[in-house]
Amino acid sequence: MLRQLVERGIKSTQVLAAMDRVPRERFVPPDWEFLAYADRAVQIGCGQTISQPYIVALMSEALQLTGVERVLEIGTGSGYQTALLAELASSVVSLERHEELSRRAQLALAEFGYTNVELVVADGTLGWPEQAPYDRIMVAAAADHIPPALEAQLSEGGILVIPLGDSQGQVLRAFHKVGGRLDAEWLSGCRFVPLVGAQAEPS
Ligand code: SAH
Repeated sequence: MLRQLVERGIKSTQVLAAMDRVPRERFVPPDWEFLAYADRAVQIGCGQTISQPYIVALMSEALQLTGVERVLEIGTGSGYQTALLAELASSVVSLERHEELSRRAQLALAEFGYTNVELVVADGTLGWPEQAPYDRIMVAAAADHIPPALEAQLSEGGILVIPLGDSQGQVLRAFHKVGGRLDAEWLSGCRFVPLVGAQAEPS
């Protein structure tokens, strides 16, 4: 898998090392384990998917984590990306709207003994004000605009990664908060499940 990532342009040695350490097959349902390292998304239940390794790597790299950051993740899904964030950042709060997925992710993550992760069943379009602001925010589901609560909960100098678009087409972008405004960076075309919540339009 690492060669596949390097060939496609992933450069961060921290991200590559973390992806080497975290066993992706533990986060994929047993029936789909044979696809854990394939270059594609995989079903994880509740109509949701775990993103392909390249997109996970690209999003992780775009967050420019150095180990001291407080991260908010929207869309825990399988918990795989959460594990990588726990490896790369200081602490992670991860929100998921499907209780069943959050519960399964909790079990998978428990195996690795992370002490810096908190999983919450909640609508991520509202963020998690209790622990705001966050140095980094990663959104793993597509919206047609950045939910205002997430922009408000991002620190000055912070980075937010989000796929924007609808079922017809999406673009993965990183936004850097500079002087209270968001500067956009293009990362890739992509295809994510929709962000469903109070501050997201149905797409
Ligand atoms: N990063 C995940 C993949 C997530 S798929 C992984 O590594 O497995 C996107 C997830 O976002 C789905 O589980 C979906 O249920 C969740 N989601 C969609 N809208 C949401 C919302 N408003 N709040 C929280 N989670 C949401």
